Amino acid sequence: VKRITIHGFKSFASKTDIIFNDKFNCILGPNGSGKSNIGDALCFVLGRLSAKSMRVEKASNLIFNGGKNKKPATHAMVEIVFTNEDHIFPIQAQEVAISRTITESGSIYRINDKKMTRTEVIDLLSMSRINPEGYNIILQGDITKFVEMSGVERRKIIEEISDVSLYEEKKHKA
Ligand code: ATP
Ligand code: MG
Repeated sequence: VKRITIHGFKSFASKTDIIFNDKFNCILGPNGSGKSNIGDALCFVLGRLSAKSMRVEKASNLIFNGGKNKKPATHAMVEIVFTNEDHIFPIQAQEVAISRTITESGSIYRINDKKMTRTEVIDLLSMSRINPEGYNIILQGDITKFVEMSGVERRKIIEEISDVSLYEEKKHKA
């Protein structure tokens, strides 16, 4: 990831660029300053569907609500830019920018500024083994959940991470 741009999403009223370097990146800030909102923005742009997992009741609550004394936004936009110098994504360009815009009426996805369906975005991301519901993203509370869940539930997660469940699904379909 080279950059994430957030505009009108949750507490990010004005357009904000977050630049990543290629090593370890860490986001720091006081309580309530928007750190977790950046994590939510990441899940959002990768195509996550569950509003609750992004800590809102419904998707439209992801749009900046005006806070104390500003005008609410009409839409929210998050863009993530990946380097494609090694051509992991089968696209000519040196960079792949994926964006998702949400309005009251739904989501619009773009790949390098061209409108695409969510499925097309998910398929492209899967080439880099990125999955918006995947366990490469560990959210606050997840560890407690893993510790407290039943053995059967935990096994399901291990099967998912190890790609076993993928074959179970294919077997089922066949
Ligand atoms: P902590 O250290 O407590 O975990 P944090 O830095 O992770 O804090 P966040 O949870 O990212 O903080 O941000 C919380 C703030 O985001 C709250 O002030 C909340 O009002 C604001 N917020 C959430 N959704 C919206 C929205 N739709 N519009 C405006 N502000 C929002
Ligand atoms: Mg937080």
